[in-house]
Amino acid sequence: MPRPLLARIDPGALRRNLLEVRRHAPRSRIWAVVKAQAYGHGLEAAMLGFAQADGLAVIEFEAAQRLRELGWSRPILMLEGPFETADCELAAHLDLTLVVHDRERLEWLRAYRGPALAVYLKLNTGLNRLGIPAQSARAVHGLLRSFEGVRSVSLMTHFANSDLPQGADEALAEFERCTQGLEGERSLSNSAAVWKVPTSHADWVRPGIVLYGASPFAGYRPEGLSAAMTLRSELIAVQTLEPGDAVGYGSTFVAPKAMRIGIVACGYADGYPRHAPTGTPVLVDGQRSRLVGRVSMDMLAVDLSGLEASGVGSPVELWGASLSVDEVAAAAGTIGYELLCALAPRVRREILPLAEPGQGAS
Ligand SMILES: *Cc1c(COP(=O)(O)O)cnc(C)c1O
Repeated sequence: MPRPLLARIDPGALRRNLLEVRRHAPRSRIWAVVKAQAYGHGLEAAMLGFAQADGLAVIEFEAAQRLRELGWSRPILMLEGPFETADCELAAHLDLTLVVHDRERLEWLRAYRGPALAVYLKLNTGLNRLGIPAQSARAVHGLLRSFEGVRSVSLMTHFANSDLPQGADEALAEFERCTQGLEGERSLSNSAAVWKVPTSHADWVRPGIVLYGASPFAGYRPEGLSAAMTLRSELIAVQTLEPGDAVGYGSTFVAPKAMRIGIVACGYADGYPRHAPTGTPVLVDGQRSRLVGRVSMDMLAVDLSGLEASGVGSPVELWGASLSVDEVAAAAGTIGYELLCALAPRVRREILPLAEPGQGAS
């Protein structure tokens, strides 16, 4: 008997979100970012939903290999580059595009003698995480192009603040100043920049979160996005509390009046955030309810006040098509990204069938 907790993944939603990105950046090709198991949705669903993407971008070499095994034949971009010298050979074997973000990787490529690789030179424009200083772009670009093991050099950067008004202006200006006249394709825009910084779209955009139907912005959800993951479960028990009775570890929620409480098969071991407070929205039988008390490892409790018809077996949506993951994340003091990526391996995933383009709702 399977536990009723299920993550339903809708490849049609992935496809619609990809089309939304195309609509916003019509002149750019799209690296669909599928790192972290496609933000928790799984690579198989991503392959289906993003069949029309121009390339896929990941961090993990295991994921790149899996994508090739699944039949992805277009480019794959390795966003964190090689992690050891042998990754250059692996990249050639799997036909992967490598990001070069520091001097050490530059030396690996200088020494590399296999089939020539396509590389992206990553410039640091203020995020100060990965990337060579933008001012060194010209010198390093020239050097890379002289390497026997390199067949093409593209230029990229990653914004620290493209989700804020004018937040990417300075970084974009620096990128343009430092790369002026250099040959090669450009890629700058994450999801937020696809929506808010059209001047950064360039040759390739690199959206992640919007493709899954969640927002890159705090307190605001762009229109036109479809949630691709619906996390649903059921009530597996009902408790009737007297005034003063508590529910859950630490007894943090105390019933102010007699009330019914539903127990949901979903907890932090499934990826539901333990720090979600009382009041976090939950849908029970399609009606809005709220989390009460502490989230435990395998269960959480919801308020059934006003939901007289709900009982054991009633469907519960934790987030998804009818309750945005952004809203749940905001209530829990985090972002949709974290909730989607944290979905635990023990949660069953069901991939919905994909209708042919133009057919039905997909
Ligand atoms: C994750 C990532 C992206 C996608 O970011 P979103 O905010 O999810 O759109 C783009 N570029 C790089 C380098 C990344 O690491």
